[in-house]
Amino acid sequence: MTSPEINPAALASEIARRRTFAIISHPDAGKTTITEKLLLYGGAIQEAGSVTAKEGRSHTKSDWMSIEQQRGISISSSALTFEYRGRHINLLDTPGHQDFSEDTYRTLTAADSALMVLDAARGVQAQTEKLFAVCRNRGIPILTFVNKMDRPAQDPFELLEQLEGILKITAVPLTWPIGDGPDFKGVYDLQTHQVLAFERTSGGKHRAPMQTSGLDDPKLDALVGADLAAKLREDVELIQGAMPEFDPAGFLSGELTPVFFGSAMNNFGVEHFLSNFVELAPPPGAVETNLGERSPEAGFAGFIFKLQANMSKQHRDRTAFMRVMSGHFERGMDVTHTRTGRKLRLSQAHTLFAQDREKVEEAYPGDIVGLVNPGVFQIGDVISVDAKVILPGFPRFTPETFATIGLRDVGKRKAFMKGLTQLAEEGVVQVFYPTDGARDPYLGAVGPLQFEVFQARLQEEYGVEVEMHVTSYQLVRWLAGDPTNVARFARHVEDDQGRPVMLFRSRYDLEYTAEQHPEIEFLPLPKDL
Ligand code: GDP
Repeated sequence: MTSPEINPAALASEIARRRTFAIISHPDAGKTTITEKLLLYGGAIQEAGSVTAKEGRSHTKSDWMSIEQQRGISISSSALTFEYRGRHINLLDTPGHQDFSEDTYRTLTAADSALMVLDAARGVQAQTEKLFAVCRNRGIPILTFVNKMDRPAQDPFELLEQLEGILKITAVPLTWPIGDGPDFKGVYDLQTHQVLAFERTSGGKHRAPMQTSGLDDPKLDALVGADLAAKLREDVELIQGAMPEFDPAGFLSGELTPVFFGSAMNNFGVEHFLSNFVELAPPPGAVETNLGERSPEAGFAGFIFKLQANMSKQHRDRTAFMRVMSGHFERGMDVTHTRTGRKLRLSQAHTLFAQDREKVEEAYPGDIVGLVNPGVFQIGDVISVDAKVILPGFPRFTPETFATIGLRDVGKRKAFMKGLTQLAEEGVVQVFYPTDGARDPYLGAVGPLQFEVFQARLQEEYGVEVEMHVTSYQLVRWLAGDPTNVARFARHVEDDQGRPVMLFRSRYDLEYTAEQHPEIEFLPLPKDL
């Protein structure tokens, strides 16, 4: 099939209704719960509870590995899709465990906006900061949902100050909480000037009923109590007097975040958030390429942002996740894999809602399509009807912890190398090879959980058992020059593309080595997103 024709007006309208976003949060803030409620409102699932794997409830659709089920965490990501008020929403499922990997970063490259979820009692946490920084560097708009208002919470003014102080983003509340913990009565919508009253429903499984009334409505006192009503009137006065107005341009450029309050578990505030989200969050925009900005209305192009091997036991194949950047994608269309110039026919395309695969017939900018990967795709690759488009410098992250890895059964070397290559390709770990003839490589990761995931997957998917030891190396630098005489304070290795690299135990070792060996040039770190 040649490049499919589509009426430009139809393409423009599909682009305009797309919203592709990811949720960023510290573990336990409520990302899974919010995802579940969003799907409930989007009609993608009938009753809340089918997404969460925890506490013996039914399995999350994105859980496909036993390690995830054992730990109750989601390690791999996919995209969940639903419709809401005429908008087509793609929610990228980012791993939310304590450590995060390159995979998380890469997933964020496919998002047009992000929802930052905070635990109302804990505020901005370590992981929130790291993921926020990735979104900030990409300049994507960020919305904030302060969750768990049904539990004792920090003062909302203090939470906003944290956003400004720690994350350096202007925080503008669009709703305001009335009480917290057992006294949580609902939120006041600062734009429509209505109160959304909170009513506890059993288990929060169904849509919570909402009542509305204005701030001056005498019924407010009866609804939330005289004390909370007085406090709300005072707070709102303060907000209106002292806080910046919501500025859509500031939001779109990532300088300002609109803040919503609620309780996902109780189904409160999530639909209100969603109805604002579809209006505020941007549709897919132009993408920077080697040929300049590519408009989403140009001919078809997509980029690979994630690779995954062995997604399920039934389908032992490799999947490449592509985000459509521009144009109309149709299954079976002829495209060029622009890095190699190879012609491809995209006949095997599917959306992945975990194990249930559905064939994708067509897709538009912002959509995520899984492609069967016969081994040709790398992260950042472009496939397009235009043979020359590529994305400049797709980012890699910098590992902060390093382990040695040894094979238990040397007869399995071939399977080991295959697993190592495929899992490194996915971004589970980065591999560094010793230059002194030693056989066993070093693995680099952002956090040690990645090593465990790697070890478990090698065993489950490739039948290979390995021993791993976390080393005391903490820093990595790529370098230019001859590093042979520098080995005293560092380990000289090569990355998977044969470039010289050094691992250091401390910043002191790095600085000392740099001082003693001016002939060596330490290259700037690959830019984190
Ligand atoms: P994730 O790790 O960010 O995906 O967090 P989860 O959605 O799994 O939530 C972590 C825990 O907090 C679970 O036990 C949830 O039931 C609970 N939780 C989520 N939202 C709320 C909420 O609004 N109120 C309360 N009290 N608990 C919540």
